[in-house]
Parts: sequence; structure tokens; C-alpha cells
Amino acid sequence: MDLRVCRPVPDKYKISSPFGMRIHPISKIKSFHGGIDFACPTGTEVLSVKEGKIIRAGWQDANEHEKGFGIRVIQSIHCNNNEEYYIYYGHLSDISCYEGQFIGEKGIIGSSGSSGSSTGPHLHLEARLVDTSQRVEPTFLECEKIGKNDRARRKKV
Ligand SMILES: [Zn+2]
Repeated sequence: MDLRVCRPVPDKYKISSPFGMRIHPISKIKSFHGGIDFACPTGTEVLSVKEGKIIRAGWQDANEHEKGFGIRVIQSIHCNNNEEYYIYYGHLSDISCYEGQFIGEKGIIGSSGSSGSSTGPHLHLEARLVDTSQRVEPTFLECEKIGKNDRARRKKV
């Protein structure tokens, strides 16, 4: 399965935890990390990895996710043979989109933070194949930077 999307944090980030098995930073138990952590200062703009509809935006619901995403956005995107994926943007400090909104590639999702179960400011990005709930490691493409006009237009929305 090859999921090719834009990077959600344009620059000034460090991958603090890759996709795969790791020692969990809080529980210290070896566990599967189903996403990618982009360490970046609180308030860093988080961008949409691909065009798609926002299905959840706000604090996670009780018992929704064992890891504690805190303030999170879930976006539905379609890739490959029109397969649907949910993209999770976790631990945000602020949200710039709303449920039901269609956001283009590199549209503004919100600002990074450390809400939920988190040991420091970072974005947890996770992709799940909706059919099976399987978590998939995305491949990040070098997407075009947003032009100034684009950005001004988006802010007005
Ligand atoms: Zn994570």
C-alpha cells in the first residue's frame, strides 16, 4: 500500500518518532506507533496533506483513541484506487477548520501543540485505511509551497 501525500509541517521540524515499533515515551512499554511524530514548536502551522473533507475537529471523544490525541482533526482523503483513508492530526493547540469543510492540499488545519497524551510539542500524523482500520505509513512528497495569494485567499474563508 503506497500512500503518497504532502508533509503536514513545511519546515523546521524533526521526526521525533517514526512509524513502527518503539518504546512508548509515557508507558515505557514496547508498542506499535501507528503514526509519525513531527516535533515542532507549539503554534507551528499544520497543513492538509491532501484535499479532503474534515469529519472531526476538536477535543477527541471519550474512549475514541487509546493514545490520547487531545485536540485533533480527522480528515477523509481518497488515494490510489479511490480508497478512503482517515488522516489524524493529533495534539494540536488550535484548529483552523470545521467539521464538514472541504480542505485543499496544503490548506490550514490548525496549529501544533501538546494537547492530550504528549511529552512535548509535536504533531502526530496518522493515516488509517477506513475499510480495515489498518494504519499505513505515508510517503511524503515535496509539494509546492503555498503562494502568498493562495494564503491570503485561504485566510478569508
Ligand atoms: Zn505519535
